Amino acid sequence: MKRPKGPGLLVEVLAELGAGRIYERFISDDQMFVHGETVGRTITVNPAVAVADTCLHEAIHAVRPAWSENYVRRTTTFLLRRLSDEQIQAVYSEFQKRAKKRPARRAT
Ligand SMILES: [Zn+2]
Repeated sequence: MKRPKGPGLLVEVLAELGAGRIYERFISDDQMFVHGETVGRTITVNPAVAVADTCLHEAIHAVRPAWSENYVRRTTTFLLRRLSDEQIQAVYSEFQKRAKKRPARRAT
């Protein structure tokens, strides 16, 4: 496996994120899910797709606990592709309203 480019790149990337040219906005695209985009050095992140994906995925686990991880992943993608932009934004909005904060922990 190829090693990452080393700490130099990571330091640069983290400094870029810290520079403050970062925005949040929903980004719509007819062909694919867009998680973010960069114009010049302005970064825009669209967290709605990733959050909606994760919410659907975990909710499928909750209602179909016997399903395998791979089947849950495939079904998540199937369901996510059937959501409109408005529905994805609604799932994200509901998540922001309803999610109760917990301290960080390691995955089991
Ligand atoms: Zn899973």
